[in-house]
Amino acid sequence: MTAAVLYGKESVQIETVAVPEIGPDDVLVRVRAALTCGTDVKVFKRGYHARMIVPPALFGHELAGDVVSVGSSVRDVKVGQRVVSANSAPCGRCFYCQRDRENLCEDLLFNNGAYAEYIRIPGRIVRKNLYAIPDHLTYQDAALIEPLACVMRGLDDCDPNRAETVAVIGLGPIGLMFVRLAKVMGKRVIALGRRQSQLDRAARMGATEVLNTSDAIDHAEAVRDLTGGRGVDIAIEAVGTPDTWQLAVRMVRRGGLVNFFGGCPSNAPVNLDTTLLHYNEITCKASFHHTPGFIKKALDVVSRGYVTARDFVNREEPLTNLLEVMRHLMSHNGHLKTAIIP
Ligand SMILES: [Zn+2]
Ligand SMILES: [Zn+2]
Repeated sequence: MTAAVLYGKESVQIETVAVPEIGPDDVLVRVRAALTCGTDVKVFKRGYHARMIVPPALFGHELAGDVVSVGSSVRDVKVGQRVVSANSAPCGRCFYCQRDRENLCEDLLFNNGAYAEYIRIPGRIVRKNLYAIPDHLTYQDAALIEPLACVMRGLDDCDPNRAETVAVIGLGPIGLMFVRLAKVMGKRVIALGRRQSQLDRAARMGATEVLNTSDAIDHAEAVRDLTGGRGVDIAIEAVGTPDTWQLAVRMVRRGGLVNFFGGCPSNAPVNLDTTLLHYNEITCKASFHHTPGFIKKALDVVSRGYVTARDFVNREEPLTNLLEVMRHLMSHNGHLKTAIIP
């Protein structure tokens, strides 16, 4: 089969490799759509991801496709079924799993290899994070559930029912998903992004106000001005730079909450104003990854049409063009997802 193999920094090759063999509790899926993700672009730029993928390795993790074979002990999955699967599954037994923090599992099993004709879905993921795709959804719609589950969990972490105003910094696909979900929940959403195209999209997804962060103004001040001088209830950082982490802290109201959703480069330090944190009682949170419960909820949200590929995927490319696609995504910001069709 044809597959993308990650070799390191900015090095991906399209090769002919053996179709993966499956064990008794695994499933083999013919990939029909694999979506690019900001994490893939980061991995491509850096050459690895300590937790998720170490080269040389098959690459790509957001996928949907058709089941072509099932292991001898698999009961609930049938050949021919259209399925979507998450890129990981927790062990269910460790310290964190037993305390309802499966995303922090000590033995989180990651699965890569979506940019390929076929992918093996390991038994643990089959049991915990693989679903049949409802008939009315496309493969691309279904493949959105992995990033969406992370975003839904991130928003849930922010205690959104007690909030009226939400600022979202960074309007890539992740930031835009936050905008959409916060809007669906009836929040007033202030969206901050660098490019006009992103701001236009955010407005279409329901942002009440948009602020261009390339304007030379104090954006925390601008957010305060929009909220009667108070600041927002929740600020979500979806960029992943120390500067935007700092900015997020400065735009919440007293007693507000910041979610540092965007992961920064390894070991990047950040300067936070202790006076502000302490006397304003600001809650700082970070959310990483998803859990089986949120994968299930994400499929439901996609199924209801709140999040669709139409809004988040704007290109289709064959697998053979993956290297160009990655280079393109790396050198330009402001893109939505590309569907790779192997
Ligand atoms: Zn992803
Ligand atoms: Zn665990």
